[in-house]
Amino acid sequence: MPIRPENRLRYPADWKQISRRIRFERAGGRCECIGECGHDHGGRCQARHREPHPTNGKPTVLTTGHRDHQPENCADDNLAAWCAPCHLAYDAEHHRTNAARTRAARRRAVA
Ligand SMILES: [Zn+2]
Ligand SMILES: [Zn+2]
Repeated sequence: MPIRPENRLRYPADWKQISRRIRFERAGGRCECIGECGHDHGGRCQARHREPHPTNGKPTVLTTGHRDHQPENCADDNLAAWCAPCHLAYDAEHHRTNAARTRAARRRAVA
């Protein structure tokens, strides 16, 4: 995922190395998603870096995501090697949850 400029300072200086280690040493170049993105992969996602993506046939780009969406938190168990579709779906889920929370808070504020 491209890092948004306003978030760049929140990443550790050695983020590139961390990201590489997670994606290629730990994940072996394969998406680590086992359904947390909201899609049912029937187990672990089959997408592999640079190989055609199993669902859309496009070359897979593996990215490193933060499960809690906090770039500062680079503990191994907070990081996941995800293909772009899984990463997007996981983040979209988060955005929906946040939007719902904001709406609920607004409703409470006017009540
Ligand atoms: Zn995936
Ligand atoms: Zn997935």
